[in-house]
Amino acid sequence: MTTRIVSDPAYLQHIAGPMHPESPGRLRAIQGLLSSTPVQGVQHGVARPATRTELTRVHDDAHVAQVLALSGQHAQLDSDTAMSPGSADAALLAAGAAAELTLQVVSGELTNGFALVRPPGHHAERDRAMGFCLFNNVAVAAEAALAAGAQRVLVLDWDVHHGNGTQHTFAARRDVLFCSSHQYPFYPGTGAANEIGHGAGEGYTVNVPLPGGMNDADYGAVFHDVFLPRALAYRPDVVLVSAGFDAHRADPLGGMDVTERGFAAMASAMKSLAEEVCGGKLVLLLEGGYDLDGLSQSVHACVEVLAGRRESFPDGASARVREAIAETLRCAR
Ligand code: ZN
Repeated sequence: MTTRIVSDPAYLQHIAGPMHPESPGRLRAIQGLLSSTPVQGVQHGVARPATRTELTRVHDDAHVAQVLALSGQHAQLDSDTAMSPGSADAALLAAGAAAELTLQVVSGELTNGFALVRPPGHHAERDRAMGFCLFNNVAVAAEAALAAGAQRVLVLDWDVHHGNGTQHTFAARRDVLFCSSHQYPFYPGTGAANEIGHGAGEGYTVNVPLPGGMNDADYGAVFHDVFLPRALAYRPDVVLVSAGFDAHRADPLGGMDVTERGFAAMASAMKSLAEEVCGGKLVLLLEGGYDLDGLSQSVHACVEVLAGRRESFPDGASARVREAIAETLRCAR
């Protein structure tokens, strides 16, 4: 069993603005903890840039060209998404790390891995940057897996925000099952329970919109009652996770009550699922997470899980999460 973490110094050169929560300090905190408390048996790798072909499976040419043309410049792409001179390179290396790590897992060269990238990706749409995201890293990774021969890819998004860009990329298709839990109503506004995909993809988008305050036990109920049964029935060839950590109880943007043990339990559930259906092929990709201690401790706990530690959810899910689960299951029929 081989676990690899991929990151790159170039990710620190993406600076979204002074006081912006999506800061280089996020990766510095993660790397600091992984250095001071190493996880045994984990390999470390560096990123390669995404190819134009990999990017244009997800984004239109004009969006890719716009981001690349702004290399070396400062630019404001939407109200909360900015580029600095190093951002285009960082975005290329973020999408490339996501794709390459996924290809290495799909091929069996690695068992699993974690791409510790910036900028994040799940809000980026086909034709535009959005919500701190320039390229949709997880969508690029899913397309890379399909191009390499995977028939079915699960993308599970546990970031506290809905992964609108990822959902829209795959909503009309059944070769990618998109499952998301997120605070709702909340940024970006999408992710209602009745958004279940359309056309050939109807039933292949699963949204669990949640009220604020959900804790580890509540997330456990979402995973056990919704995500795991659906994913087991789907039998993916590889499992990709949009791993944001802004549902952490200390996060300044999210309103949830999840701890690092809860995130480890989510990772452990996905690892068990992958072991059952696809030889353990699992890739985590960093999305949000803005409390530096909560983020770094949660990432560290997930890396321990990838390398072999197991963690389970506590009991005691609330009535409020049961209602949210029931609504998702009603919409699935
Ligand atoms: Zn987020």
